[in-house]
Amino acid sequence: MERIMTNRLDRAFERYQSEFEEAALRVLRGSRYILGPELESFEKAFAAYNGASYCMGVGNGLDALTLACRALGVGEGREVIMQGNTFIASALAVSAAGGTPVFVEPDAYYLPDPEAIEARITEKTVAVIAVHLYGQTARMDELSELCKRRGLKLIEDCAQSHGARCGSRMSGTIGDIGCFSFYPTKNLGAFGDGGAVITDNEEYARRIRRLRNYGSEQRYHNKELGVNSRLDDIQAALLSVRLSHLDELTAERREAAAVYDAGIENPKIIKPAVREGAEHVYHQYVIRCAQRDELQAYLAERGIDTIIHYPIPPHLSEAYAHLGYRKGDLPVTEEYADTVLSIPMYNGITRAEQEQVIGALNEF
Ligand SMILES: *Cc1c(COP(=O)(O)O)cnc(C)c1O
Repeated sequence: MERIMTNRLDRAFERYQSEFEEAALRVLRGSRYILGPELESFEKAFAAYNGASYCMGVGNGLDALTLACRALGVGEGREVIMQGNTFIASALAVSAAGGTPVFVEPDAYYLPDPEAIEARITEKTVAVIAVHLYGQTARMDELSELCKRRGLKLIEDCAQSHGARCGSRMSGTIGDIGCFSFYPTKNLGAFGDGGAVITDNEEYARRIRRLRNYGSEQRYHNKELGVNSRLDDIQAALLSVRLSHLDELTAERREAAAVYDAGIENPKIIKPAVREGAEHVYHQYVIRCAQRDELQAYLAERGIDTIIHYPIPPHLSEAYAHLGYRKGDLPVTEEYADTVLSIPMYNGITRAEQEQVIGALNEF
């Protein structure tokens, strides 16, 4: 039997192949490759899809977060609070903007815990980053109430939550700024690096548009120290194709998740729970198991690849040794790092592949 990999990007490509090829050729045959019409039309479409006033395409998700931090005043001596169990890019963005990330424990859904965040607010805190981890939306009502009450900015890290709703609104539109990655494996993936920022605030939009283009609004007139971080037109054209199918792609992931939910029944395995009022778009289907490493090896022997998101939480990574965290400082975060396992979840996964995964999990 063919090995079941953690991801199969070829499946969704093949499904829309002629549309992707047409879009790519249209850009190649045109003469505008950067800051051209394809970027503009993708930005319009993505803003409209989310119900946001502005969208700025940038080079990748880390840059989206970094520019958002800069636009919101994160800098030297300023702190930004986030859940400890996130991809390190959420924290690197704060550092790149000159600030300091502060890590707190997540809730039982792997999501930001408003109480834990509030307990760590100091006079240095300027913002909170809420990560909709694995594709489930965070408690945005509580988080935005908290941030308003304490005078903090709220950034949403939506790198895993394209198309996920919090109540009636899309993730990315509830905080001050929403940041997206279009890394190829994300739910809305490009064919290379890409990212975007959405906001309803005209001033933030203008600032980010300027920062991504050397700090200039008018060519060779540089108002501030910007960067070069733009979404290429070819990626924008390809993303427009995928965006037009995003709702069906999301529905397919949710159906695949329901198959796992119904099929996996092993008392050693904790399945993902969805909080009442949240929506889950299953960027990852993450289980937890006390014997995680044995389980991963067991599955590998049976031809099933899995991945750990994430084995080393940022507060324990070498890169953040200077912050002085010790093992044991964030026991829940660390327990998640030791027990989580992402099983195969991608568009185009077949029922037979899922049955094989379920069978192996239940036999373990
Ligand atoms: C992927 C990801 C990022 C970074 O996006 P890149 O485009 O790879 O830079 C940031 N935060 C989270 C939660 C992610 O999953």
